[in-house]
Amino acid sequence: MNKSISSAIRDDFPVLSRKVHGDRPLVYLDNAATSQKPEAVIAAVAGYYRRTNSNVHRGMHALAEEATGEYEAARRAVGDFLGAPDPAGVIFTRGTTESINLVAQSWGGSVLRPGDEILISVMEHHSNIVPWQLVAQRTGAVVKAVPLTPEGDLDLEVMDRLLSERTKLVSITQVSNALGTVNPVDTILAKAKAAGAKVLIDGAQSAPHMPVDVKAMGCDFFVCSGHKMCGPTGIGALIAPAELLEAMPPFLGGGEMIDQVTIEGSTWADLPYKFEAGTPNIAGAVGWGAAIAYLNTLGMEAVERRVHELVEDAADRLSQEPGVTLTAHPQVRGGAVSFWLDDIHPHDVAQLVDQSGVAIRAGHVCCQPLMKHLGRPAINRASYSFYNTKADTTSLLEALRTTRKLFGY
Ligand code: PLP
Repeated sequence: MNKSISSAIRDDFPVLSRKVHGDRPLVYLDNAATSQKPEAVIAAVAGYYRRTNSNVHRGMHALAEEATGEYEAARRAVGDFLGAPDPAGVIFTRGTTESINLVAQSWGGSVLRPGDEILISVMEHHSNIVPWQLVAQRTGAVVKAVPLTPEGDLDLEVMDRLLSERTKLVSITQVSNALGTVNPVDTILAKAKAAGAKVLIDGAQSAPHMPVDVKAMGCDFFVCSGHKMCGPTGIGALIAPAELLEAMPPFLGGGEMIDQVTIEGSTWADLPYKFEAGTPNIAGAVGWGAAIAYLNTLGMEAVERRVHELVEDAADRLSQEPGVTLTAHPQVRGGAVSFWLDDIHPHDVAQLVDQSGVAIRAGHVCCQPLMKHLGRPAINRASYSFYNTKADTTSLLEALRTTRKLFGY
């Protein structure tokens, strides 16, 4: 039975009851950067270190077996939650960034040839731009980007023109961290597949807020971060079909990822271990597993409805607020709404609203090509999770009014 998402859910998150700057109740609207953690996750991580701590896959003793069992249970939980076809195709990484670098260096480094093209978009996070530039420099491949419509959606007509037999990979975010745009992954996949390209979906901002079924989606690579999904930092995943991963060379070398090592050369462990060199983030995986158990008690359909309701309300009220200009009006909006306040620098806005206890983001939000497209160096962003309330948006609006007064508007 699903737990209902009422304001009582906030009691599950200890940090949400704290105050900042003395007596200001915290209003946390920076969930796209990282989500807060429920008590169940904090307890799982602490409990792992209290009871179980050991290295995995190596020891012959009770703790090593228990730690391995918990680590592998977390892998199955992540795989089930995201609809992975096979737990062997769920690779634990440090997060979205490392997952994309893994694909770029391993798959890209072995497959791409001079003149091959990697198609990204102008709204991508730097994590879905720079790894492709690095592998393009190595292989002679070329990075191209789908432009945006004035509303902040992908320009799918131009995408059609950019796709060709030279396109070997389309790597696009499911939800923009900066504009809030939800991209039409089905359409993107159909277009990319028709051109014969592989598809990577960056799920950093989708997996926290909506049901994801990687198998039904049909992408080749799906990547996400545990810390944006109520889990700990330093843990994330790459999900891909086992056959594809089998054909890819290792990314990092070291312990855990080998079968036989001689001075002359080495052979590789089976999946998923081939891609998990060194001691992994065991406590992080256990904590992420607990986060997934927690999200499952809410139900991701309910999470999606709640975040949608909050963010539509925020976009609506912000757009009616004097001095506020929204950066985008996408067809479908995910967890974030970004804006400018008159001509006040976004850093000043974020610092001043913080004085009222309201945490929002300011800056290029790791999307400098998008800032160039918008014609401004920075934006402000309020980003929501299911534990936010409409009262949080009211606090933001009040803090924005105070900021405007200070600037003489
Ligand atoms: N992609 C998107 C769309 C993001 O929003 C983020 C983080 O904000 C990342 C990638 C990078 O995630 P991480 O820093 O967890 O690796």
